Parts: sequence; C-alpha cells; structure tokens
Amino acid sequence: MNAEIVSVGTEILLGEITDTSAPYIARRLANLGIDVYFQDTVGDNYKRLESVINLAESRSNLVVLSGGLGPTEDDITKLVLAKHLGLALDTDEHALQKINDFYKSYPMKEPTTADMQAKYIHGATVLPNDNGFAVGMFLETKQCDYLVLPGPPVEMQHMFTKYALPILAKMASGNPVIASKVMRFFGIGETELEDQLKPLISNQSNPTLATYAKHNEVTLRITASGSKKADVDNLIDGMVQKVNAIVGKYFYGFGDDNSLAKVAVSLLKDKKLSITAAESLTAGMFQSRLGDVSGVSEVFSGGFVTYSAKVKENVLHIPTEVINDHGVVSRETAVWMAQNSKKILNTDVAVSFTGVAGPDQLEGHPAGNFWVGIALPDGDVKAKEFNFGKDRNEIRDYATKCGLKMIYD
Ligand code: ATP
Ligand code: MG
Repeated sequence: MNAEIVSVGTEILLGEITDTSAPYIARRLANLGIDVYFQDTVGDNYKRLESVINLAESRSNLVVLSGGLGPTEDDITKLVLAKHLGLALDTDEHALQKINDFYKSYPMKEPTTADMQAKYIHGATVLPNDNGFAVGMFLETKQCDYLVLPGPPVEMQHMFTKYALPILAKMASGNPVIASKVMRFFGIGETELEDQLKPLISNQSNPTLATYAKHNEVTLRITASGSKKADVDNLIDGMVQKVNAIVGKYFYGFGDDNSLAKVAVSLLKDKKLSITAAESLTAGMFQSRLGDVSGVSEVFSGGFVTYSAKVKENVLHIPTEVINDHGVVSRETAVWMAQNSKKILNTDVAVSFTGVAGPDQLEGHPAGNFWVGIALPDGDVKAKEFNFGKDRNEIRDYATKCGLKMIYD
C-alpha cells in the first residue's frame, strides 16, 4: 500500500509558513508500514488542486489532503474533491449543532459559510474535530482512498491520531486489533537511538518501530496488530523488553503525555521525599517544570533562583572563597548550592544548576558547559558536568531535564 500527501494552502506554497503536517503524517504512515511515495504542495486554487488530485489518484492507493476545510472563501478542498468525484455534500448534524451552539453565545455574527465546516462528501466516514469545527473524512472510492484533514496542526494531529489512525491501521495490517505504546528516552539522540535499535527496526514488520525527536527527547512508538488484544499486548511487551535490553538506561517512561517532571514527581511522592532547587543557569525553569505537574505541592514548597554570585553568597550562604577559588561554573559551587538550599528549606532532596547558557563564554567555559548538583536524603551530595553546545534555550531546557533525570538515577 502506498500513499501521497497533499498539503493545501497558498501560505505554504509561498513559504510564509512551514509545512509541519506532511512530515507528521508521513512518519505515522511509515509507522503503519504505508509507504509515502509523493508529497505535493498546492495553493488554494480550484484548478490546480483538481489537477493534483487527478495525478495523485492515478498513482497512489491513499491520498491524504490537509488544509482548506475552514469557513472562508479560500477553503475549497471539500468542494473540489466532491465535484471531482461527482458526489454531493451531506451535513453532519452533530458538527452543525456544535457550530450553531457556538455562535449563539458568540458576540459576532455567524459567517454565512460557517456550516460548510459540517459538510462531508456523501459516503465518507466523518472524522470529528474535537479542537475545532471543520470535520475531516475518510472516503473509499474505486480509484483510491481519501483522507481529508483540517489545516491547523492541533486539529489535524488530534483528528489523525484519534480517528484516522485506527482506520488506516486496520487497512494496512488487515488485522482487527491494533495498538501502540510510546517509550520515552532522555540522554540519547534520535540518530544514536536508531543506530542502536537498527537490528530491531529493520527486521520487524509487526510490531513496527518509529522514532521521533522533540525538545531534547526521543520517543519510540511501537505499533503491533493481531487478531486478539492479548496477542497484540504480548507483541508490544516483548518488544519493550528487547528495546530496554539495548537502550534501557535512557528510558524513563511510557506515553505521549508523559514527561520527566511527571516521572520525577511521582517518584518523590512514592518515596515521600520533599524537594527544593537552587537555580542559576536555568533561572527557575526546573521549578517551573515541577509546577507543571498537578499535586506537586505534596513534595515541593519552594526554592531559589540565584543568578549572580552575590545572591549565591547572600541567600544560599555559599562562602566567597568557594566561588573565588573554583568559579561559579564548578563542581564545588554546584555542590554548595544543592547542599545549602537543602539545609535552608529542610528538604530531603535538592537539585542545583550552574553553568553557561551562552552565547558568550563565562570564566573561560564555553556555552553549554554546566554542572548539575544533587543533595540526597542520606546526606550525600553529587555533581555532574555536562557539555551541550546548542543555543541558549536548548541548553537551559536540556539542563533542566538533566536535573529531573538525576532525581531517579
Ligand atoms: P481554518 O478553519 O483555520 O481556515 P483550514 O482547515 O481551512 O482551517 P487552512 O486554512 O488551510 O486550514 O490553514 C489554517 C492554518 O493552519 C494556516 O494558516 C496555518 O497556520 C496552519 N496550517 C495549515 N496547513 C499547515 C501545514 N501543512 N503545516 C503547518 N501549518 C499548517
Ligand atoms: Mg482556512
């Protein structure tokens, strides 16, 4: 089975926005074993869109169209496809109700074209839009299958994963049960993870494995299909074990919505350990990530942002000689920061950050050189040095994650 992805939108064509949808869709199709042979970009133009559709259906089994489902005049994808196929547009009553309800309580007048968003091509399976109004659809025709998705990435991605993926997975594998599990890794790059897992990735068709890198982390989606749920779960669990036998030391948790902060906070809660932090380099980012996790107040009641050497001395009582003798970017400073913040707030654990966010050097250390300290319940204090030569925000994000990972290492 092969597919073609058509990104519809003049903004994409003119380079005003970057197409993030085609790569998103392509990766997930690859995951299902569906080969993407072509990707096209076309503007919001009736004739040219129809000519792309013509070509795509002549050479691909599955044509995925994204964009142009909205209420404005330039949103023509459904109209063009319906006309091309000689099919009528029906209205999805549920979607129409949602649009009408919204405009009842909305101060602006309902655009006359708003109900276009509730329309779908006769015979298609409607894909609900949980984050917007325009419905998507899946349509089987003699020539090929069509998957039609909205343009805004939040709407498209949610619709794709929740409603389109199960249909496609079933088609691709011929199996009635399909499931996937996401493994999350930190401390290893995508290329290296792929390299290490190469024997597993290249010899597998069920389950399939696909990596994805985002915000200094890598995720691995394991997708399996079979005739029974128990068989599929076994296939996935078996693969999780094989993966962990190779790269287990970088693995930290399962799930699309998981995060290092969630895992760290849940560990602290399980062990009933309180935490604080003293942050220089990250200037509060670590504590902010803790704050993202609901219920964190059980283990976190406050901490320090000590950016300058003066504040490190005055607030954390770090002896001036420590900073003078070793510098701010040093094991000693990281250790003192962790140890003293733990003492001042009387917590079980404290994490500290000191280093160079860049772009300029500090004390002769290059940007991306930093130390993370951790003071543990038994009184032990450790610090680890990292070198991560990227831009300022990436460095701070990476350092924050190193600190979170050190909590459960
Ligand atoms: P709307 O109701 O917002 O008009 P739509 O389904 O008609 O939705 P478009 O008008 O094509 O979608 O695109 C709306 C916006 O979504 C674009 O301005 C752009 O910001 C974003 N978008 C659309 N397609 C893509 C894409 N392929 N990659 C990234 N962003 C996209
Ligand atoms: Mg639009």
